[in-house]
Amino acid sequence: MSQSSTSVDTSRSVFETLVGTSCHFCDDGRLARDEYKGNDAVVCDACETPAVQSW
Ligand SMILES: [Zn+2]
Repeated sequence: MSQSSTSVDTSRSVFETLVGTSCHFCDDGRLARDEYKGNDAVVCDACETPAVQSW
C-alpha cells in the first residue's frame, strides 16, 4: 500500500518558507509564525510588521 499523502498545504508552505527570514522593514527582525488580527500570519519579531497572513 503506497500511501502518498504528501498533501502540501500551499498557504502553510508559504509561511514556512518565510519563517526565519530577515524582515524587510527593519534591520534586526526575523519573521516568525504568529497571529495577526486573529488570522495566521508571519510577523516580524522586532517591529511586528506582518509579512503574510491568510485570509
Ligand atoms: Zn521588522
